[in-house]
Amino acid sequence: MRTQVAIIGAGPSGLLLGQLLHNQGIANVILEQRSGEYVLSRIRAGLIEAGTADLLDRAGVGARLRREGLRHEGIEINFDGKRQRIDLQKLTGKIITVYGQTEITHDLMEARSTAGVPTIYEAAGASLHDIATDQPRVRYHKDGVEGEIVCDFIAGCDGFHGVSRQTIPEAALRHYERVYPFGWLGVLSETPPISPELIYVSHQRGFALCSMRSFTRSRVYIQCRLDDHVEDWPDERFWGELKLRLDPQSASAIVTGSSIEKSIAPLRSFVAEPMRFGRLFLAGDAAHIVPPTGAKGLNLAASDVYYLSQAFAEFYDTGSSAGLDGYSDRALARVWQAERFSWWMTRLLHRFPEDSGFDRRIQRAELEFLASSQSAQAALAENYVGLPY
Ligand SMILES: Cc1cc2nc3c(=O)[nH]c(=O)nc-3n(C[C@H](O)[C@H](O)[C@H](O)COP(=O)(O)OP(=O)(O)OC[C@H]3O[C@@H](n4cnc5c(N)ncnc54)[C@H](O)[C@@H]3O)c2cc1C
Repeated sequence: MRTQVAIIGAGPSGLLLGQLLHNQGIANVILEQRSGEYVLSRIRAGLIEAGTADLLDRAGVGARLRREGLRHEGIEINFDGKRQRIDLQKLTGKIITVYGQTEITHDLMEARSTAGVPTIYEAAGASLHDIATDQPRVRYHKDGVEGEIVCDFIAGCDGFHGVSRQTIPEAALRHYERVYPFGWLGVLSETPPISPELIYVSHQRGFALCSMRSFTRSRVYIQCRLDDHVEDWPDERFWGELKLRLDPQSASAIVTGSSIEKSIAPLRSFVAEPMRFGRLFLAGDAAHIVPPTGAKGLNLAASDVYYLSQAFAEFYDTGSSAGLDGYSDRALARVWQAERFSWWMTRLLHRFPEDSGFDRRIQRAELEFLASSQSAQAALAENYVGLPY
């Protein structure tokens, strides 16, 4: 098979890149190791920055998000039993939209199959070859038969554990990493949200986040130990622990119900630089991970593929590789801003087991400063709604 851009991975970055390239007349094939149903069953991100929503509109897949997404004008930070609202709309003129990653993935898959652009699902053992030449290739197995895609470029959109970054010679990449000493236990339930806006909680028992996916579906997280298992957390224990971390008013508003999904996610900050080797370009979680506290992962995946699609369009329209040469620096400038903000939000709101009494007093002083300072709230809001592209 011959194409212009071979894309590894049908997560949000691969599917959105494919859509943007298709709209610009650039042929592409997506290779995904899992089935479409499996990809759609992964419950992950849900907070969409205004810039990402605009990009989905421009890609022609934003209609359902505009119709069904929940517009949020503020969030709450809750500590020492106090509730501090951060008015995103007033402080930045922007809002965020609650719309599940699963829904975005669904919209992108539907647009792709309607346009008849090829996606090879359940492609096993993908391997990347000749990535430093001008004719790279991707080999894979499907139903026991070996396949090969010859292309001009490869986009590695295959997430943190994917094969793309691993194909780059070790000496050509620098890794920066922080692994946090706790995880997030997340529950999805068919229960109304605890509050119309998201509540971020800093409590001596640990962090909590009350979020939602719709008016009838809650998504709630609590900080847990790294060695905790989902089986250790029956629903009753989960809701009981959440109540202990919330202020009395929010706790009394909880409607408990059976979980329809429950999982534990470790928290990590990670960046691999540069985001290019030869004709292989990395995008999204393949190149960087942020702890979910800042809600930036999916939004960064979108900004990466926006820059990358512009660079490919410039190359095919004019023959210039300036955009491709500048892709890594351009994407990384934004990535590091999101890394800083996600690290800061995580530091501000979580209970770190190794913290001394001094560290805890500083953390509380910082929360009190945030509650009393308009400019501190404005800085948080500006980062939360997303910096301009
Ligand atoms: C609990 C949680 C909450 C989150 N909340 C938010 C949020 O509110 N806002 C936000 O912006 N982000 C959030 N994120 C982060 C967000 O989900 C990710 O950043 C996003 O999924 C990245 O998309 P991606 O396409 O780059 O990678 P992925 O979604 O990981 O997709 C990669 C794809 O590549 C495929 N693949 C892997 N290896 C291969 C291979 N060898 N061959 C072929 N295919 C392969 C995988 O099967 C997968 O489908 C959250 C994440 C978690 C875990």
